[in-house]
Amino acid sequence: MVTEVDRSAHPLTAEDRCDRCSARAVVQTVMLGGGALLWCGHHFSTYADALNGLGAEIVCDLRSRETA
Ligand SMILES: [Zn+2]
Repeated sequence: MVTEVDRSAHPLTAEDRCDRCSARAVVQTVMLGGGALLWCGHHFSTYADALNGLGAEIVCDLRSRETA
């Protein structure tokens, strides 16, 4: 029996804030270890390369809908 990590993320709402600042979160990523992080557009761009290097997975991306 395979135990799967529950990666189901809740949809981002206007209540969600970037983990680096207080701006509205528009991207949610899940790390390989399972921890979820929220990002505003600005901080996601800043950390995108690092996140890619860590194998983080984008589970929610509202950037196409929101103009940051
Ligand atoms: Zn931010």
